[in-house]
Amino acid sequence: MKQQLIQLIKKNKKLFLLAKALRFLQTSSFPPIDGSKKKYPKVIQLPITYNCNARCVMCNIWQMDHSGEATVEEFAKFMNDDIFKEVEAVGINGGEPSLIPNLPEYAREILSLPKIKSLNIISHGFSQRPLLKSLEAIYKMCCEKGVSFHVAISLDGVGEVHNTVRGKPNVFEKTTSTIDEIIKNQSKYCDSYDIGCTIVKQNIDYLVELDTYAKSKKYNIKYRLGIDNKRIESDKLRDQYSVIYSPLRQSAKEFFHYQMSQAKDLANRFKYYAIFSWLNSKNPKRMLGCAWKDEGITLDSRGELYYCAVASDSIGSLRKEKGEKIFFDDKNIEYRKSIIKNSCDGCIHDYNGQPEFKNVLKFLSDIFKDRFAMKLYQLKLRFM
Ligand code: SF4
Repeated sequence: MKQQLIQLIKKNKKLFLLAKALRFLQTSSFPPIDGSKKKYPKVIQLPITYNCNARCVMCNIWQMDHSGEATVEEFAKFMNDDIFKEVEAVGINGGEPSLIPNLPEYAREILSLPKIKSLNIISHGFSQRPLLKSLEAIYKMCCEKGVSFHVAISLDGVGEVHNTVRGKPNVFEKTTSTIDEIIKNQSKYCDSYDIGCTIVKQNIDYLVELDTYAKSKKYNIKYRLGIDNKRIESDKLRDQYSVIYSPLRQSAKEFFHYQMSQAKDLANRFKYYAIFSWLNSKNPKRMLGCAWKDEGITLDSRGELYYCAVASDSIGSLRKEKGEKIFFDDKNIEYRKSIIKNSCDGCIHDYNGQPEFKNVLKFLSDIFKDRFAMKLYQLKLRFM
């Protein structure tokens, strides 16, 4: 009976679209999240090093001190902390993870988390040899553990545009060569991959060129806005890179509208719709969900804990205290509530998480309105 129903829905295009919309609606949350619930985190954002050999226009990490970072032995102790006992997903970033020669040893500790289901890593991709060597070793361990492994490589433009954004000569060729190798031999490196472009002043006029290039190479490319982010001190570089506070905001708006129309699945379409709506509003409100409101934790390479990377200061150190004491401390929880109250609407980082029901409903009703308007227009044309 269930199978027959599924077949019927698949055959009928309208029913199929409706089922997809209802399924997407189910992923939303009813009560707004205010950060007061003391839940164990399910996701870790893990800047595993502050070391970086890029000089990106939207990031200050390469100017930061990267001494005193955790050895594998100390990192193993971090992973053993009870605060991580419910973690299902970990995202390794940096700095540049491929600069850690024994990265797989750190990954092994991550994979010992009792409930881990997925591991992600983000890299600039131009230190090709060490990166690929680490990916291969990590993917093997993930397969043994039944953990899914996703790789994201940054690509911000074609040729000189990418080099300018990353602040290094000749890195476009190196990055694309890494991407091509991962695509060609994906079964060696990961379960899935994507390419991430950060939109900044330096590439905003060249995004259609990048999009066309990515399509011609069959790259699965995603776009995000360069935004103020405390962890990487991009808030100090705003004038240098940000399109949000400049006349270039209009171009960003148009590009995200275009991406919205191109997106193949509802989740991506919603993401671009939310970014477009945020840019288009005089009083922007965040429509996207964010796991870091109450399900995420950021752990850095020295054991410092943060609620989120965008707006949170350090809330304590695993070198001094237990994670539960830090994460559930009443004063810190009040601090998290203040972040959600004061910063989330101004944050358009494309983090995932449960969006609010009313936002998903607005998105779906706008889609149906658009479709209806188009049908009406086509009907009108017939009688003209
Ligand atoms: S400020 Fe941004 S990253 Fe931080 S919790 Fe809010 S939405 Fe998430």
